[in-house]
Order: sequence, then C-alpha cells, then structure tokens
Amino acid sequence: MPKFNEYLTLKEVQELLPTEFSPTKLIDKIQKLYESPKGIILFKEAKIKDSNESQYGVKKETVLNYKVSYVCLTVGFNGILLIPSELLINYFDENDTSKFGNGRSELKVHIIGDRFILKGRKTSSEFDLTCYFIPNDFCDYVQASPIENIWQEAKAFTDYEIQYREGSIRLRHESKIQKERIARIEDYTCQICGFHQSYVNSNGKTKYIIEVDHIIEKSQGGGENINNLLVLCPNCHAKKTYGVIKINSDYSIEDENGERKLLKQNRHLNLKGEIA
Ligand SMILES: [Zn+2]
Repeated sequence: MPKFNEYLTLKEVQELLPTEFSPTKLIDKIQKLYESPKGIILFKEAKIKDSNESQYGVKKETVLNYKVSYVCLTVGFNGILLIPSELLINYFDENDTSKFGNGRSELKVHIIGDRFILKGRKTSSEFDLTCYFIPNDFCDYVQASPIENIWQEAKAFTDYEIQYREGSIRLRHESKIQKERIARIEDYTCQICGFHQSYVNSNGKTKYIIEVDHIIEKSQGGGENINNLLVLCPNCHAKKTYGVIKINSDYSIEDENGERKLLKQNRHLNLKGEIA
C-alpha cells in the first residue's frame, strides 16, 4: 500500500464518505464530532508509520456519552475506515487497552497487504476492518510513483480470502489499486490491440481510456493477483465479455475468426506460468 507521511484532510474525507454519512453540523470541535443523517460521526486522523500501522487515541466515554454511531479513521493517504461504534466498544471491552493520557484508549490498526486489522492484546480479539475501508482515489499515486515500487507492490499483492462481502447487499471485494498498478505497468496500453489514448479531465489531470479485466472472472473465483489481470481497451474488453474473442490458458488469444494470436503487448503476465 502507498505510504505517505501525511493523512487526508477533513475536506477530502468528507468527499469519500457515502452521501448518507455526509456531516451536516459540527458538534464538538476539539473531539471532531459531526452530526450526519446516519448519526454522530467521530473523526480521528493518523499517518501510517514505517511499521505499517496507524495509531489512534479514542475515548470510550466520548463514544458512549455522545451516542456516536460511527468512528471514521483516516488511514494516512490511503483512505478511511468507517467503523460502527458497537464494534469498537466490543473491542475496548474485550481488551485491556493501554491508556494514553486523558482516558483515551489506544487503537492500533495494522496494514497487511490491502487488509486492515485491529489487533487486540489477545489474538482472539482481532478485528478485520477491511470491509469498512473506503479507498482514496489511487490513480494519482500510481501515476506518480517510481515504476519499481509499483512492480514490487503488484507482485506482493495476494487475493482477498473472501471475494465477496456479505451484508444487506452482496458487494464484490476487489482491489482497485492493484488494477491501477497493472494498467501503469502496461503503460495504459491494450494488451490485445495496442490501443493507447490519454485525455485531460476537467481537473486538468491526465487520464487514460483503458480498462483492467479479470482473466478468470470474479464469479469463478478469480481475483486481482498479478497473473489474473489483463489491460484492455473498451472495444477488446467488450469482445472478451461477449465471447467474441477468448483468452486461452497460455494467455494467447482466439480472435473473431477463431485464429490463435499472441498478446500484442505483455509486461506483467508470466507466459510460462499457468493461469492460477
Ligand atoms: Zn484493444
């Protein structure tokens, strides 16, 4: 994950929040409590340390006394964790959390790959917070990072154990940043036809007309590991989706006429390897 020695500003956090969580009124400036249609939200910022963890001081009393519904933690520049308060109260109750001054309890979030784990004193009281994570837009970061770093991060990525998160709606759990990394490695170029087209968006930023697809579909258990992603233009993507062209297990293409073709461009797929 990207590490920045800073964290998102409150304004940037507000832009990431789903609309039903949009803060409407500041209730307490010092403790950063806001009213929202989903109840009261407590904000806490922290940057990511070299040890790949971020640390927050939260008062259990504040959460209880103000009837806080959600605690919003800024994880460096990566994004935010929007955590239901009950989960944190359970955590505080189960753990003899070390106290900072002023009755604040310590929350330590460990970043392991693309996962976020709240580690308790007892291993049984670990909480996986990944499903509460709302990522920042990673495009700028991926475009600006040295390509060696992007390669390292892309190779190190392992798939989520749970590909879907269950809840009131069944949501696909996928790593947008990993797809962005693979697009950068392939220089935002279609691996099948070589299409490459940039444009400048309304914010003056350079973007690309490019898509990243799973070789083995998500529904068939395919994830975002480096050998399961293919960089495609919208046209080739549609042909693949509708079965007009096919990708073989050796990453060769069966084209519209049923003829076997090699990928026009490939930097990241290991052609010797099987599709895992
Ligand atoms: Zn194409």
